Amino acid sequence: MSDRPRVVVVGAGFGGLWTVRTIAPFSVDVLLMDQNNYHTFLPLLYQVAAAELEAEEIAHPVRSILRRLPNVQFALAKVEAIDPMAKLVKTENRTISYDYLVLSTGSVPEFFKIPGADKYALPLKTLEDGIAIRSQILACFEKAVHETDHRRREQMLTFTIVGGGPTGVEFAGALVELIRGALVRDFTTLDFQEVHVVLVEALGNLLSGFPERLQNRAVKRLVKMEVDVRLSSPVAEITPEAVLLKDGTFISTETVVWTAGVRGNLEADVAGLPTARNGQVLVLPTLQVEGHPDIYVVGDLARLEEDKDRLPMIAPVATQQGAHAARNIIRQISGLPPKVFRYRDRGKMVTIGRNYGVAQLFGWSFTGFPAWVIWLVVHLYNLIGFRNRIFVLIDWAWDYFFIERAIRLIIPRERMPPQVHMHRRQMT
Ligand SMILES: Cc1cc2nc3c(=O)[nH]c(=O)nc-3n(C[C@H](O)[C@H](O)[C@H](O)COP(=O)(O)OP(=O)(O)OC[C@H]3O[C@@H](n4cnc5c(N)ncnc54)[C@H](O)[C@@H]3O)c2cc1C
Repeated sequence: MSDRPRVVVVGAGFGGLWTVRTIAPFSVDVLLMDQNNYHTFLPLLYQVAAAELEAEEIAHPVRSILRRLPNVQFALAKVEAIDPMAKLVKTENRTISYDYLVLSTGSVPEFFKIPGADKYALPLKTLEDGIAIRSQILACFEKAVHETDHRRREQMLTFTIVGGGPTGVEFAGALVELIRGALVRDFTTLDFQEVHVVLVEALGNLLSGFPERLQNRAVKRLVKMEVDVRLSSPVAEITPEAVLLKDGTFISTETVVWTAGVRGNLEADVAGLPTARNGQVLVLPTLQVEGHPDIYVVGDLARLEEDKDRLPMIAPVATQQGAHAARNIIRQISGLPPKVFRYRDRGKMVTIGRNYGVAQLFGWSFTGFPAWVIWLVVHLYNLIGFRNRIFVLIDWAWDYFFIERAIRLIIPRERMPPQVHMHRRQMT
């Protein structure tokens, strides 16, 4: 123990890591805590689910990221409670005191109380989720080979994605390419007319928040790839065998991937922190919590409005907020007032299958091949870990030149139905 101020950062995601990296050069002791011993690069998670990348390629051990930061320690622990008055963070078997606390525990899936959604839909939020979806898709093809009933076969081979935001759109494109590429060659006895990818979106267009021209391009592209795009189609119920839409439509499907919404992940018991209905913590423009000048909240967990618009739950917001919180803590330690956070929006982009993307960067719109190349470069550059970059590049090149997906493994052999996944998640 030193007499330097102690900063505890909870969550080694984008927000937490950027806090730690920014504050590390200063004279403070930092403890970074996470329930996993790795950082997950979530923007590429859909490629794990689509058998394009290995889970390990988008994860990086936290201790290796911190190696060159001598004043930063790591604790593998799930934070269960925070006592803001006593300035304590509690885990199952430890109580840790702090001078400054940064909460960056991200988000969890939001099912909007739609009957059956939390039981039967597969969320895409963690590495385990990505592997579970990949296994479910591949297992459906294996089952369908032995199914003699046409109706049942078609149900097994219909893959429904709920949520037409960037993750749903990117996953739909990648899934079609997995099916029309590697799986067509693997399952030679199946009739691929029976395979369907359905993308269901409650709003009137995909990619909410993108310019209308890019939204329309995305729809066109997916329709061209034979994705069944259902716009203005809110989901009423999900069962083990179907998705029911509010307009009465019945989609017979065994696999439902949920990308429709997330909520702030404030599982820890933090009595006294003001939260919004979606679980996010309300923060002041300085990213502090009102009444608790020593607590900062960043990333998906933080609720902050700029010009009356809520900041989106995306990685650049989390990284910029993490760095800003770190700088504000240093200002406080130096006796200076914390500064107001302003988000610098550099743009947004998605890729939809090979050679095609839509992007808006610095006010400019790009579509097609240029947007796809920009997407590849940006994601490869931002991926943490040189080894990960090399392996991702190899997998992408392999897929691009040979139209082949290397990771077509069903793991574990005994797959759990979605409701068991959920139950396990709640228990851990
Ligand atoms: C599939 C998917 C695709 C995405 N694609 C993009 C994209 O293309 N571009 C983009 O900008 N954004 C994208 N996002 C959003 C982006 O990943 C998030 O906005 C970003 O990760 C938020 O960073 P964060 O630090 O708030 O949370 P996270 O990065 O989620 O990190 C939270 C960390 O907290 C840890 N944690 C949680 N609870 C506890 C606890 N109780 N105790 C200890 N540790 C805990 C978790 O293990 C995790 O490591 C995507 C998200 C998903 C799910």
